Amino acid sequence: FELLHTAARNQADEQRKAIEQLSHTDLLTGISNRWWYNEQLKNQNSQPEYRRRYAVFLIDIDQFKEINDTYGHLYGDEVLVTVAGVIKQTLQGSGIVCRWGGDEFLSQSRAASNEETLAMAERIRTSVSGTAFTAPDGTPLSVTVSIGAVYVPNPQDVYSTELFSVADQALYAAKNSGRNRVEFRTTRCAAKES
Ligand code: GH3
Ligand code: MG
Repeated sequence: FELLHTAARNQADEQRKAIEQLSHTDLLTGISNRWWYNEQLKNQNSQPEYRRRYAVFLIDIDQFKEINDTYGHLYGDEVLVTVAGVIKQTLQGSGIVCRWGGDEFLSQSRAASNEETLAMAERIRTSVSGTAFTAPDGTPLSVTVSIGAVYVPNPQDVYSTELFSVADQALYAAKNSGRNRVEFRTTRCAAKES
């Protein structure tokens, strides 16, 4: 009876872990989802302050609708999977990335300065634009992203909803100034401006 009881408990534990893992994961790209990101934010709060200066990137694929419309939704899905993988690989474990929704990704890394934030964003941008995509008809395809990059020198700002509106505004500016661009802000500047 003891053995059976232990086996049943282990199985229940494994099932619980599997369900937990699934609930954190974006099913198309396999990277984390937005819900998981919010969970991470809660855990970060227990880190020492000096480790909590961040760079936050809102990354959106350029003219993605056109890719879907020209080559089909399934190929669009493939592009999403590849772009998610490229972003993740570019960060090389130094940060987290999740699918924010649709063709938008959110990434957060530790960063110590404006320059470092900008350099990381540029690395993500050029990694995507440097990736060779091939359309289903064999045509080489170029895929680019626009990035709203925000340096967050004050740890508490990472929990503010304003951070996301700053990132959103920066992304919007990157789109408006021609796409395949990084637009930079800091939360400090945002506070000064308002
Ligand atoms: P912009 O450069 O301004 O970002 O233009 P865009 O075409 O990328 O922007 P828009 O928001 O109009 O298009 C995003 C598209 O992403 C629309 C939606 O159909 C598509 N999309 C959202 N989720 C998925 C998905 O899971 N798979 C596929 N294939 N397409 C998706
Ligand atoms: Mg887009």
